[in-house]
Amino acid sequence: MPIDPDFPRNHKVLGKVQHADGEHFYFAWGPGKAAEATEDENVKAAYEARGEKLEPLGVHGTMVAVDWDSCVADGACLESCPVQVFQWYRTEKDIPAKDVINETWTGSGETAKDDKKDYTDKAQVVREYDCIWCMACVSVCPPQAIVVDQSNLEFHEKAAGTFSEALSKSAQPPPHGDHKQSPF
Ligand code: SF4
Repeated sequence: MPIDPDFPRNHKVLGKVQHADGEHFYFAWGPGKAAEATEDENVKAAYEARGEKLEPLGVHGTMVAVDWDSCVADGACLESCPVQVFQWYRTEKDIPAKDVINETWTGSGETAKDDKKDYTDKAQVVREYDCIWCMACVSVCPPQAIVVDQSNLEFHEKAAGTFSEALSKSAQPPPHGDHKQSPF
């Protein structure tokens, strides 16, 4: 089951995942569900080896969003991203995925495809704010766990309490072909 493209409408904010720079953060959305990760033999075996419970995790990120219940730690997204939006979260802090929300992250984790800790690792959008909207990660993800949608900035800002209806209405569409500017 690929990521729900309407996840911000169909989910609630689980928490804010803070960057150590004190400025940036991303949101996680839930509830999660049983999906590809629950059925994947590599993922199941890795959780068993750790003695950790394989439980619903939800979606990490809003404009660049990875459904952690679909993510099977393939790593194609890390390899495809030209600006290292993603890291393997366990290579920065080797903790259960449920606890990621409560931690602060520096982005010092590994960003190469094959450098995950094991198949319980997940692609974390630790530098969501650096996305240049190339869409490369979306098409390479085997379980289609990723949605990249700049217009989801509205949901991010509403969750952050920084959304302005007036600014949103007066915002002009970007010049033709200009999709590379980060809006946040
Ligand atoms: S859309 Fe491009 S820049 Fe953004 S996270 Fe995906 S691969 Fe990286």
